[in-house]
Amino acid sequence: MTLNALQPWPFSSTLGESNYEAALRRYPGQAIVDLKAMCDNMRHLVEVVGGPKSGTAVMGVVKADGYGHGLIPSALAALAGGATWLGTAQPREALLLRMAGIDPKRCHILTWMFNGRNAPLPELIASDIDISLGSLDGIEAVAQAARKLGKPARVHIKTDTGFGRNGFTEAGFQAALDRLVPLAKEGVLDIVGQWSHFSVADAPDVPEFVEVTDRQLESFNRFTERMRQAGIEPRIRHIANTAATLSRPETRFELVRPGIGLYGYEADPAMGTPSKYQLRPAMTLQAQLSTVKGVEAGHGISYGRTYLTDEATSTAIVPLGYADGIHRSASGFDEAGAKHTSKPGGPVRVMTADGPRLMRVSGRVCMDQFILDLHGDAEAMGVREGDTVELFGPGRGEEHCEPTADDWARAADTISYEIFTCLRIRIPRLYLHAAEVLDAQDMSKLNAKTLL
Ligand SMILES: *Cc1c(COP(=O)(O)O)cnc(C)c1O
Repeated sequence: MTLNALQPWPFSSTLGESNYEAALRRYPGQAIVDLKAMCDNMRHLVEVVGGPKSGTAVMGVVKADGYGHGLIPSALAALAGGATWLGTAQPREALLLRMAGIDPKRCHILTWMFNGRNAPLPELIASDIDISLGSLDGIEAVAQAARKLGKPARVHIKTDTGFGRNGFTEAGFQAALDRLVPLAKEGVLDIVGQWSHFSVADAPDVPEFVEVTDRQLESFNRFTERMRQAGIEPRIRHIANTAATLSRPETRFELVRPGIGLYGYEADPAMGTPSKYQLRPAMTLQAQLSTVKGVEAGHGISYGRTYLTDEATSTAIVPLGYADGIHRSASGFDEAGAKHTSKPGGPVRVMTADGPRLMRVSGRVCMDQFILDLHGDAEAMGVREGDTVELFGPGRGEEHCEPTADDWARAADTISYEIFTCLRIRIPRLYLHAAEVLDAQDMSKLNAKTLL
């Protein structure tokens, strides 16, 4: 008998169950993604902006392999939930969406990360993918590709309203307008949109940051006015990420671009937990324990002896390490040892004979594994090799022994976004509730072996 820190998964069929068993044989850790949660999250975000007829469309941001949840499954769940746009930073991922059969009649796709020299611009234009323009080199490259192809490129003008990343500054915008106006007239560029990005929209309770967002909006409007006066008024304006979509209605314009909200998280735990925003985390990361054994008091755990057991105890190996994307900064240091900094490691839900317990990474995270001090006798606790433990899931937070990616982010001094996107592809992604969310045609776009 092995113990499981999770509820049994609701397999759709015996095939789903055998896919699950095959995944466990293939790898001792699995990321299980609930497509219904993602679809519901998107449906909720569409409601938040006033519904499908509100005049504000919703883009599902699926960059970086759908924030590590899988590009195509995430895109399809977002569309099923009412998104009418998809967005990826890298052009390669935008092209993969079209290659998977997500065609232009179904949704627009915007991509924004390229340099004017090496990008696959003809492919993007031919595939009806909208392209961001935020540099003079970018304008020339896209115009040249469109001219050669004999097809206008759909472009969105990126304006730097204070984020200091991509886009034209207000000072540099005249030079851009001088090129954009004739190219629009020539019919080479179809200027669809104007866009920008917020720097601190995830701190609605910090007056100083709220004011920064106000100033970014004013700048955004000044850019629009200049485009209007130049005769190239954008049809679609967009600036809101998840945080602004949820907390600043006046930032919604014709399109919003939530990413982390689709995956069920708020942008910053300071905003509250996902449930405050009626969002449900979609991913659960689980693993099956390797060696479980007893050790004496004062035993050094892992590299550098940064953790010494304070009494006779049992330890268990979780077979995921930094090569899987488990942050080494989520290592846990001995709380008792005077020589070491005391720091709690990443949380893991472990099932014992007496119910769930929250254990923590003990000592340094290694390449392929980390160690848990079980703070007790494994045999008495009923904990055994092969038991399934949960690193994070949709739970109610650490205090209920149900850690979330936000808890791991806290332990690793980062954000949930990085927890998800660092998870390497060698960890199988398995999908729940696909058939409830997707029609047969979309189901056929997924790898059948990944469906539970
Ligand atoms: C990632 C990203 C988003 C989505 O941000 P979230 O905080 O995940 O909602 C929106 N727009 C741009 C330009 C992005 O890079």
